[in-house]
Amino acid sequence: MERVLVTGGAGFIGSHLCERLLGAGAEVICMDNLITGSLRNIEPLFGRDGFLFVKQDVTNFIHVPGRLDTILHFASPASPVDYLAHPIQTLKVGGLGTHKVLGLARDKGARVLMASTSEVYGDPQEHPQRESYWGHVNPIGPRSVYDEAKRYAEALVMAYHRQHGLTTRIVRIFNTYGPRMRGRDGRVVPNFILQALHGEELTVYGDGLQTRSFCYVDDLVDGILATLERGDPEPVNLGNPNEFTMLELARQVLALTGSASRLRHEPLPVDDPRVRRPDITRARELLGWEPHTQLEEGLRRTIAHFRALEATP
Ligand code: UDP
Repeated sequence: MERVLVTGGAGFIGSHLCERLLGAGAEVICMDNLITGSLRNIEPLFGRDGFLFVKQDVTNFIHVPGRLDTILHFASPASPVDYLAHPIQTLKVGGLGTHKVLGLARDKGARVLMASTSEVYGDPQEHPQRESYWGHVNPIGPRSVYDEAKRYAEALVMAYHRQHGLTTRIVRIFNTYGPRMRGRDGRVVPNFILQALHGEELTVYGDGLQTRSFCYVDDLVDGILATLERGDPEPVNLGNPNEFTMLELARQVLALTGSASRLRHEPLPVDDPRVRRPDITRARELLGWEPHTQLEEGLRRTIAHFRALEATP
């Protein structure tokens, strides 16, 4: 049986990974300091054979007794609102946390997959973004705490691979959505859905013509596991190339919730990327992976999740 450590396992993507791995028969150690992760995300996993939760900050020394085959490093605040609220912790988890994870992997002879991000491309001057693009990041802007932490983490992973021959993977994750996103994490999908469900105005930042491409979480998990099995040490983009403006997203959320909410424009956050869309040619060729869930279907499932949450005390 494979023994896997998932850091950030109580977070949005981490909890979906834990669930999938358990279902595939792995033993899963879920580690999280619960700053942005939540026990609610992993509640259904408690009591299942092979699941263990450890509350720990991975920027401190990590001790895991026994064997370890794989580490999936997903610990980090990931929404702009969260990493702006925890700027130093975000830098620490990307730097010190990634270092601790790599040291543990070396000690255990485990392979490591690190969750990187499309933010390494910054406000991109190449569109769509391929893995070969080096990015356009403001190194001292407010978003730099996340962008530069992830860029440093990628450098660290590559150094451990080159110097110590560690088996490593880097996935650059583009915008992802789905059940278990935190309602108040400030990202556009939960914001719009909750605002629509409550009949509040939808907050569109800037003119709303900036674009993103959203991948449904189940597709992303397929891509992560495919990278682990069939990938190589070079970074690979994982995301859905279906690109739309935030205004189009707002309209779709209104249509699917049946809400009569109006739109309210608010200032664009500093360094908010104007466009973002992954080029997933490499993932298609290397992994035979591509996302399948259409935005409408994914939004329906995510709306159902938030409706159910709202209905429970
Ligand atoms: N956004 C918006 N309204 C909101 C939250 C976000 O218009 O209530 C915009 C934000 O300015 C950005 C896009 O939606 O252009 C995606 O933002 P998010 O925070 O979800 O993720 P990002 O891609 O910026 O990391």
